[in-house]
Amino acid sequence: MERFELGENIPKMNHLSRVAVIGAGAGGLCTASRFKQLGIEKIKIFESASRLGGTWRYVDDPNDDPCSSMYKNLLTNLPTKVMNYPDFPFPEDTDAFPSHTVILKYLKDYAKRQNLSEHISFNDPVESCSFEKKECTWKVNEESFDFVVVANGHYTKPSIPDIFKSSSFQGQIMHTHYYRKAESLARKNVLVIGQGPSGQDISLDLLGIANSVALLGRSEIKGTPDSLRKFIGWAKEVKPNGVLTNNGDLIECDYILLASGYCFDFPFLEENVIEYSPCRKKIQPLYKQIIHSHFPSLAFIGIPCTIVPFPLMDCQAQWLGQVWKGNVTLPPTEERLKQAAIIPGIGRPEIDRHFHKMSNAQWKYDDDLANEANFEPIPRSIQDLYTQVWGVRSEKGPAVFRNVQYKDYYDY
Ligand SMILES: Cc1cc2nc3c(=O)[nH]c(=O)nc-3n(C[C@H](O)[C@H](O)[C@H](O)COP(=O)(O)OP(=O)(O)OC[C@H]3O[C@@H](n4cnc5c(N)ncnc54)[C@H](O)[C@@H]3O)c2cc1C
Repeated sequence: MERFELGENIPKMNHLSRVAVIGAGAGGLCTASRFKQLGIEKIKIFESASRLGGTWRYVDDPNDDPCSSMYKNLLTNLPTKVMNYPDFPFPEDTDAFPSHTVILKYLKDYAKRQNLSEHISFNDPVESCSFEKKECTWKVNEESFDFVVVANGHYTKPSIPDIFKSSSFQGQIMHTHYYRKAESLARKNVLVIGQGPSGQDISLDLLGIANSVALLGRSEIKGTPDSLRKFIGWAKEVKPNGVLTNNGDLIECDYILLASGYCFDFPFLEENVIEYSPCRKKIQPLYKQIIHSHFPSLAFIGIPCTIVPFPLMDCQAQWLGQVWKGNVTLPPTEERLKQAAIIPGIGRPEIDRHFHKMSNAQWKYDDDLANEANFEPIPRSIQDLYTQVWGVRSEKGPAVFRNVQYKDYYDY
């Protein structure tokens, strides 16, 4: 791609500006909502599916909706009092950790509140999005826009470790993105690889239904039933009958379920607009993880990981609105590039796949956005409850933490 950049030519958004939002998931919806509140009228949300809600749209057959990574029995791993957008609580009688159907309904209700559906073009995938140098606009499919917000989610393209791409394994290998029901693996001896929240929860979901369940991860997990065979380490070699770990354990199995995470993917952007790390879990160059350092009229919502997505994305959308309205000044390109390269949270320079992980650093990040763009910060009580829940999860384990009555839960 020709390297023409907007650089210091930062356009200003007004009520006549044409804004394209790619994706009607939680990130795209709150962006459209916050922009509407600023008086922006010409917002078009492109959505490839026939319904809003992104990954929360559960489907029995994963081929029916490539975006959805939900399985049938999934319960949220955060309490709803932490998850919600700050200006839109869940109904009072909502369970603390409800199923995906409750979250989908919540997103539909959120969209209804501000008539967001009238802005959504369903069954309308963005296939191309390119910068038009002469007009300083963006061509999205065949239409022209002044600003583009990319909110296409990053739990769609499975990350498959090389050793599983082609192996002598005689059973089946599947990524958790395609997992729907434990019954489909009844009679299988399943090995789940990776013990992030999905790996842990799916292992428990399979217990008692699959013939046997083993979980391989890098550290100990507390409070799981003895019937879950736990192995510490990582997969070193795939054998015809199982997986050999770096510690010399051969875990025999006839089904491998990879809970190995996801890759970023923006297939509609021209080559070189985004630089991917080889593992595709790190992208550059985004100032504040939001605005493209070279093209300030192109932004991304929801890139940070290990965060509370709805409130964080809502902060990003509010900040972005104020930047594009001209109420927050962006530093020069050089500074934007410099800042884009700084690890925003708990990552380490030598590990690309952790670059966007924020964890506890998310609260300062959210506060900084709020201070800069002058909006209400996320209440401290949300951070406290989040910290409590994660503390209990690591102390008591994934089988227990949802049953705990969190202190003052109902007082928040
Ligand atoms: C298994 C699992 C469990 C989770 N549990 C929780 C939880 O308990 N609590 C929590 O807060 N978060 C949880 N999350 C995180 C969840 O991803 C976020 O809550 C949130 O849904 C992210 O929203 P998003 O808008 O960024 O992406 P998505 O929800 O993925 O939405 C992206 C949208 O963009 C559309 N799209 C993609 N490409 C195009 C294109 N080219 N053109 C047009 N449209 C396009 C998609 O169809 C989709 O509708 C979980 C995620 C997963 C995968």
